[in-house]
Amino acid sequence: MPNLTAHAAVLTYFDEAARLLELDDKIATVLRSSYREVQAQVPVTLDNGELIVARGYRVQHNGARGPYKGGIRYHPSADLDEVRALASLMTWKTALVDIPFGGAKGGIEIDPTPLRPDELEQLTRRFIGVIHHVLGPYRDIPAPDVGTNAQTMAWMMDAYGRVEGHTPGIVTGKPVALGGAPGREQATGRGCIEVLDSHLGSVGRTVDGTSIAIQGFGNVGSWASLEAVARGAKVVAISDVHGGVHNANGLDVIDLCRTVLNGGVLADAPGVEVITNEELLGIECDVLIPAALGQVITEANADAVQASVVLEAANYPVVPDGDRALADRGVTVIPDILANAGGVVGSYFEWTMNIQQFTWDEEQFNQRLSDRLTRAYAATHEMAEYLGCPLRAAAYAIGVRRVAEAVELRGYI
Ligand code: NAD
Repeated sequence: MPNLTAHAAVLTYFDEAARLLELDDKIATVLRSSYREVQAQVPVTLDNGELIVARGYRVQHNGARGPYKGGIRYHPSADLDEVRALASLMTWKTALVDIPFGGAKGGIEIDPTPLRPDELEQLTRRFIGVIHHVLGPYRDIPAPDVGTNAQTMAWMMDAYGRVEGHTPGIVTGKPVALGGAPGREQATGRGCIEVLDSHLGSVGRTVDGTSIAIQGFGNVGSWASLEAVARGAKVVAISDVHGGVHNANGLDVIDLCRTVLNGGVLADAPGVEVITNEELLGIECDVLIPAALGQVITEANADAVQASVVLEAANYPVVPDGDRALADRGVTVIPDILANAGGVVGSYFEWTMNIQQFTWDEEQFNQRLSDRLTRAYAATHEMAEYLGCPLRAAAYAIGVRRVAEAVELRGYI
């Protein structure tokens, strides 16, 4: 099969679910495209006087079940096609975990790493300036993603508030000091390990004693690695954009976090073997967790994967050909819309707290996160058994069916 664009590829997953559900053609036609796509230029004047004109996007895929919800990514690959694909994944994800949101995604096609904080702030404020008319706490609520973080959300909240008045519920993943929820920052990575725990439990195994390799050491990868180790797993390999490190006896994850937070690189750690990102995918381990970017496991490298479980912490890390190749070899893939749903569940808690002006402590947050994800895994597992299909098709079937029902009930078509 020729290389598919990100959107064409996720549509193949949607089409499979539509086939399994015998979905009405008219509803399928609506769900195959986005409701609204905004794109605009985002100019930034750098401190050295140079002008950069980046392209920014906000894609609202479907809002039948509630306000649009999805992260905003700053990355050179965040073009309209990628953002469109990621927005549709958010629709299926919010429906699968049964929270009252639709799906959206945003992106600015830029490498944020060379930008200084004041330049990033300017970029963020300009972007909100051009998309704020499609946002709102009951319309569309952004969150962090690749290249953005709690500070970015604080700037977004402030930029929106200057026009519309103080509105903490306009973004999630904010600093706790501004109405962020204690536990939200950790929620995606922690949630990945919750889902892994449910999956391993269903096959008579535990996270304790499992060996894990993780690609990506940002928000999701770092918190997933810490949670895995806290539950007795051995993290044998980790990588980021600069490359990776391996130790078959287990890495000191806390030390690696400290190194990276202090501006060092993973390879600075003592007693590790330095590896490439490609080598990480083929490391001997029980569970492989791609937690960086999309489209990293393809037909070309799927045979190298030694893990028996691939948990998609990143969005869309396994392309359809790679998915088939893994399935042919008996590798179980826990799909992104289930595996990394802890992030949006945590965002839902934060948004709920903001609009009702109350807070939970981190313990309550984590307990409710765990309950939601355990239920979502159980529903997906049951659907996979019922349909006799892989977890991805089952997760899509649940999500697509719920969205289709809402579309129909609301009389959208
Ligand atoms: P991040 O920007 O905090 O971290 C990204 C990590 O990936 C960094 O360690 C970076 O060095 C690494 N990376 C970048 N390019 C790489 C490459 N070519 N090879 C290997 N590593 C590379 O981003 P994040 O928030 O951790 O998001 C990671 C993934 O998880 C994304 O796919 C994102 O969409 C998904 N996700 C994030 C959240 C969230 O709450 N942040 C929620 C759901 C899904």
